[in-house]
Amino acid sequence: KGRGRGTLCVFAPEMEAYLRGRIQMEADLRDALAWQQFELVYQPIYALASEQLCGFEALLRWNHPRLGLINPVAFVPLAEETGLIADIGTWVVRQACADARLLPQHARVAVNLSPVQLASGRIVEVVAGALRENRLDAARLELEITETALFAESQRNRDVLQRLKGLGVRIVLDDFGTGYSSLSHLRVFSLDKIKIDRSFVQDMSAQPDSTAIVEAITGLARRLGIASTAEGIETAEQLEIARRAGCTEVQGHYLGRPLPLSRVLADMRAPPLAPASPFGDHTT
Ligand code: C2E
Ligand code: MG
Ligand code: MG
Ligand code: MG
Repeated sequence: KGRGRGTLCVFAPEMEAYLRGRIQMEADLRDALAWQQFELVYQPIYALASEQLCGFEALLRWNHPRLGLINPVAFVPLAEETGLIADIGTWVVRQACADARLLPQHARVAVNLSPVQLASGRIVEVVAGALRENRLDAARLELEITETALFAESQRNRDVLQRLKGLGVRIVLDDFGTGYSSLSHLRVFSLDKIKIDRSFVQDMSAQPDSTAIVEAITGLARRLGIASTAEGIETAEQLEIARRAGCTEVQGHYLGRPLPLSRVLADMRAPPLAPASPFGDHTT
């Protein structure tokens, strides 16, 4: 109405469809846990120095009865707005800890936390409980948080992170470079690792500036005693640049796509006849 007569008529049908879609989506999301429609897929992470698998990132998928497999970017924001992320996030932590027991002992499992989960503080008991129930060594669990969670730099968030660290888990700053966090956060929050956002990583071959940014972040991290992961490695060239920049770890489609746990375990039991290392064969 405020935008003048007529405007409402133009937008009403679209708006109504949007709201209906949202209401339906919200109702579906409310039932998704009970109907066991969530799934975790696991993407491998490799250590650059040893060229060995060192962990997996657990990534959430929603197997919607009509829409099929939905990526988190399409429903996590709604889950956050409605508060449903608390229960979904609890399921993620518990499932990932249970799955970690089936994965190789030396592999860590990384779980993404929403800033909403962090702010509630309940996450500390959730993580402690999941570790205990699965008798999982806390050092095998990594919690990925985003700069948004640090932005407020509230005492409360700091306390929650400190209590999580107290459990022995590792705290990782995800998508580094895309948010508003300041470099001092790296020290203040005593982070264990930063993940350099794939937008920098993927620009590296074309843009010398991006390479400079990745080198600077990695160098800074190293001097602070913090590990670094280059995300979204899609080509051999990006892998090589990440290596030269001194990244500790690499992750991306070039090294392995996210797969259901059953596939990950099957691939480990039955490696391909001629295993092709994404790092190339150094023996020849
Ligand atoms: P993220 O934590 O930065 O995860 C990496 C995303 O990049 C994943 O998308 C992954 O599939 C994708 N990716 C990995 N390698 C490549 C590559 O080489 N190229 C490209 N183009 N993409 C690659 P996904 O699974 O769609 O997840 C998107 C985001 O959703 C995640 O970003 C994370 O922020 C969030 N998310 C995922 N799982 C959860 C969860 O369990 N809880 C919460 N709160 N958020 C989650
Ligand atoms: Mg992540
Ligand atoms: Mg990321
Ligand atoms: Mg992301």
